[in-house]
Amino acid sequence: MPQSNTWLTKKILSGISFSGLGNLYQQVGGELGLILTLHHVRPDHSGEFAPNAHLSVEPEFLEQTIVLLKRWEYALVSIEDAQRRIRSGDRSSRFAAFTFDDGYRNTSEIAAPIMRKHKVPYTVYFATGFVDRTACNWWEGLELAIENNEELKLKSSDRTVTLVCRSLAEKYNAYNQLVEVFTNQIGEFEQAKALRSLCPKSYEQLLVRMNNDMMDWQEIKDLQTDPFCTVGAHSIDHHALARLDEDKAVKEIEYGTALLHQHLGQRPKHFAYPYGYKAAARPREFELVRKAGFKTGVTTRPGLIFPEHAKHMTALPRISINGLYQQKRYFSSLTSGLPTRLIGRNRKLNVS
Ligand SMILES: [Zn+2]
Repeated sequence: MPQSNTWLTKKILSGISFSGLGNLYQQVGGELGLILTLHHVRPDHSGEFAPNAHLSVEPEFLEQTIVLLKRWEYALVSIEDAQRRIRSGDRSSRFAAFTFDDGYRNTSEIAAPIMRKHKVPYTVYFATGFVDRTACNWWEGLELAIENNEELKLKSSDRTVTLVCRSLAEKYNAYNQLVEVFTNQIGEFEQAKALRSLCPKSYEQLLVRMNNDMMDWQEIKDLQTDPFCTVGAHSIDHHALARLDEDKAVKEIEYGTALLHQHLGQRPKHFAYPYGYKAAARPREFELVRKAGFKTGVTTRPGLIFPEHAKHMTALPRISINGLYQQKRYFSSLTSGLPTRLIGRNRKLNVS
């Protein structure tokens, strides 16, 4: 993320928090609650170049968010309870539901013990291709490729683009350009091949890292015995479903869920869209997930949950606990709902 954007966002979030506007807005916001998104929970060992830092929070900050939400009298609930509250329009108290995406080993080793210590339910969404080591999180592979090289050559059918990545600014520039290519220009099924051709060594490193970082089936079975844990589905290969033909999107949803069912003995009832932003999960996907029988589908479109979401249970927004904003003032501002209402031009629903 460009650093100037982060700086500006921090100023705005701090302003909302210190001015009391967030608190004031919360009195009249009318929301039922919120669903929180996390990815990695681990101590911070990142260097200066850390383009994926937003996906990683420190264990102490996770713990702090739990303490704050309890102090603010949120009911900390499972996704199943959140679903019931949304359906019934329950306003007895605001709810917060914690969710962890992708199935990182630090979810079971670091985050889960914190959740158990505080008796807080949580959901983990698994992409089965990560568990089987057949899919790769290419965004971390791009980070490795840029760290390993002073320049990279990106080849396409008609030209070769050279990306210089010596200085920190050049590294971020190269990363942003590559993310644009991987998310918008090449197909979802070409990403692994493109990463391998960009830097074979980094691709190999990524496979080793994935083996170290992602849970395996036995670990998921062990986690499933935790009464606070709900297992959710997150497709097979973590593709942006809206970029796939319908039959392929159905396969990603159905087969990924069937594999979890087969290995764990229970069919997940809750789904998280890979990436989850607007270009990755659209009304077609919301309908496919509804038809597949899921009770909820969560996106990463930012927002709080309102009674109006009862008619859109497979298009629920979430609030990201973002590694770049690990301070109470940013968190209190985000959970007030004011920033997301400002971004969303005051709409409660963002489902089109
Ligand atoms: Zn994911």
